[in-house]
Amino acid sequence: MTIIRVALPVPLARLFDYRPKEGQLPLKGVRVKVPFGRRKLIGIVVDYANNSDLPVAQLKQLLAILDSQPLFSSTLWQLLQWAAAYYHYPLGEVLQKALPKGLRQGKPAVQAETIQWQLTALGHTTVLQAASKAPRQQAALRQLQQGLSSQATPFLAISPRLLRTLHTKGLVKTDRPTPAAAGSWSLTRPSDQQAPILNAEQQVAVNQISQQLQGFNVWLLQGVTGSGKTEVYLRLLEQVLAQGKQALLLVPEISLTHQTIERLRQRLPVPIVVLHSALRESERLAIWLAARDGAVALVVGTRSALFTPLQRLGLIIIDEEHDLSYKQQSGWRYHARDLAVLRAHYEGIPILLGSATPALETLHNVQQGKYRQLLLTQRAGGAAAVQQQLLDLKGQPLTAGIAPELFARIQQHLQANNQVLLFLNRRGYAPALLCHDCGWLATCLRCERYYTLHQASQRLCCHHCGNQRAVAHQCTGCGSTHLITAGIGTEQLESKLQQLLPQISIQRIDRDSTRQKGALAQQLHTIHQGGAQLLIGTQMLAKGHHFPDVTLVALLDIDGALFSADYRAAERLAQLYTQVAGRAGRASKQGEVVLQTHHPQHPLLQTLLLQGYTAFSEQLLEERQLASLPPYVSQVLLLAEDFESPRACDFLSAVRQLLEQPGHLDSALWLLGPSPALQAKRAGYFRWQLLLQHPSRGRLQQLLQSHYPQISALPLARKIKWSIDVDPVEG
Ligand code: ADP
Ligand code: ZN
Ligand code: ZN
Repeated sequence: MTIIRVALPVPLARLFDYRPKEGQLPLKGVRVKVPFGRRKLIGIVVDYANNSDLPVAQLKQLLAILDSQPLFSSTLWQLLQWAAAYYHYPLGEVLQKALPKGLRQGKPAVQAETIQWQLTALGHTTVLQAASKAPRQQAALRQLQQGLSSQATPFLAISPRLLRTLHTKGLVKTDRPTPAAAGSWSLTRPSDQQAPILNAEQQVAVNQISQQLQGFNVWLLQGVTGSGKTEVYLRLLEQVLAQGKQALLLVPEISLTHQTIERLRQRLPVPIVVLHSALRESERLAIWLAARDGAVALVVGTRSALFTPLQRLGLIIIDEEHDLSYKQQSGWRYHARDLAVLRAHYEGIPILLGSATPALETLHNVQQGKYRQLLLTQRAGGAAAVQQQLLDLKGQPLTAGIAPELFARIQQHLQANNQVLLFLNRRGYAPALLCHDCGWLATCLRCERYYTLHQASQRLCCHHCGNQRAVAHQCTGCGSTHLITAGIGTEQLESKLQQLLPQISIQRIDRDSTRQKGALAQQLHTIHQGGAQLLIGTQMLAKGHHFPDVTLVALLDIDGALFSADYRAAERLAQLYTQVAGRAGRASKQGEVVLQTHHPQHPLLQTLLLQGYTAFSEQLLEERQLASLPPYVSQVLLLAEDFESPRACDFLSAVRQLLEQPGHLDSALWLLGPSPALQAKRAGYFRWQLLLQHPSRGRLQQLLQSHYPQISALPLARKIKWSIDVDPVEG
């Protein structure tokens, strides 16, 4: 008798055996409902077997088969199986995470009948004003007026809700429902926007890639911000979509990508969907189904959009490929860029990685001839290179963390009616609240880290665990009320500068200021209206925006990154610097970048400023090779957390012993730890780590694979929280 092996969404790295239901044999990759303990779960059929560890009579029977066809294409199936094994994460959870929630809950995996919407006579002639308060309605109406295939309509920017709004305004009407057909779009309709003539480097890039659209190739398109990478994406997308194929574009963060998405919509008259966090589950499911059925041309999304099924996928693009957000930092710790390369490989299609500052791993792959590099060295539109300067902070009197010389420059640029961007990677008002009499610091006891003071909300917030409390007015140590702030965050920078420059409009952009829906869009709108303005921001500001009126960019505090315990900090700083510097200056305006530091002679800074990111990354790669660090070796981090510090540490010691058993020890395996994690305590948990390092990725995988059963059978394994981070980017 055939036994059905099912992957279930439970944190156990094994399959579960069931008896089929009355001779019905479900296909691999379909959902089944099964009894599990006292619960009923939805799982996915992974395999068949002839016998089980349990006597067949004890096996429970499947309750229902939910699909007649597998939910995964063969390439996605292969990819997810590989990813579960490589990242050592239970297959059942991996498969489920690749599905929209609706499917996880058992909703049918077929497209509901789609309502067709058409413009009314009024809708054909109405022009919503460009300054209209409803930019989405305006965009939707414009798309409909451009005569896009009505079948594709539900999957455009136009959500069902939006269509209903237009309906109440009498701009659209419904037709009788027809089933959604596989999309066939044409690019014959002229796009709204004239494409610029490519410069020579862009032309080379487009030619090279388009000559090899038919097979797997990894391309790295390296060019500073404004060098025209997006233009290259557009040309390639046009070609791929014109062949009736689909494409996938991954971006680090949707909220920072509106300009690009708008540009895609204007230039590519095809069904484009954007997977963003505000989608309702029903919309997410509809998109998933439409993409699978081939009715969507282009999917834009973050990390997890990689798992969107696409029947006729022809091209994958990863924008800002170096961005850390592509690595999932909890649970299934996959790297979307690395998996995307593998997906492209399985699909037999090209993948394009774009960045001004490629990750060292990516540059290493270029050096090894695995990836092919295309360079854009000029700024499109011919903007001049920026002037850069290191400003020595030693002995300087600082106002809000700003040296007098920088402050004078800020004023100059503002007087010339230009914009200034100040970069400080620290949210809040002050990174610490300190007792002036005894030195006590307000500390989050769960993390043993200082609270950040948030003045506006009058709260102390822990940026590590999110813990909050009212601002202390009295020292817990000595009772003194003389509490002072130490250090400067963006909030304080904003308020101090507003006092010094009362006439100037200041936009602060960080996670706090943009929390409210629409706040970021409003701020960006103000900035783009131009005129003298100060922009203050964290990391968020470095990503994906064009600020044409910014002529001065200053990084206020970079010393932390120069002397970090994390060997990757230098790479991050260089990426940040290059990205931020790319925001300064445009065609008609000379841009200037200033870095404040106490260490202007630091060799890394010198290389970065004098020779640029490429030389810098080459130097860093050499250092990594000498020090036997990634990408020259492979790393796996075992992380253990517990309320009781010794238990977490003991667990990792036991793991280490297993790996070092006589006869098992691989002399090339290098173990470090157990040691406290970079963040040694978080939300009450003590955190320890054990680093495994090996020159061979394959061998390290083997070691982990073969020891996994013993590791998970350790007595402490069931008492503490532990996880495996393959190719860690932190810690
Ligand atoms: P990136 O994606 O590298 O930041 P973009 O493609 O967004 O660069 O280009 C930056 C700006 O230059 C955009 O406004 C774009 O329209 C314009 N641009 C791109 N390529 C050209 C070109 N060949 N000629 C003129 N303008 C261009
Ligand atoms: Zn005190
Ligand atoms: Zn905390």
